[in-house]
Amino acid sequence: MDLSLADFVVLVVLGSSLLVLMFTAISRSLHARAEARSAASRVICRLCLHAFEDHGHGKLVDCPQCGTANERGRSRRLG
Ligand SMILES: [Zn+2]
Repeated sequence: MDLSLADFVVLVVLGSSLLVLMFTAISRSLHARAEARSAASRVICRLCLHAFEDHGHGKLVDCPQCGTANERGRSRRLG
């Protein structure tokens, strides 16, 4: 196989841009997944509208601002 310098450069450029594209796609999907996860754990207080994240498993979450018990998942559509 006769590989000239120009061919080699083209191959390197194509390969690295492919790598960049792959890396971008992977990091974007990871970011979207993390975003969805944080949206699922986001709670907005029904009393003082303080937004906070809760990673527990209970159905009721106490607002750190005013202490009101909020139902998890109620505010999911707002996010
Ligand atoms: Zn509150």
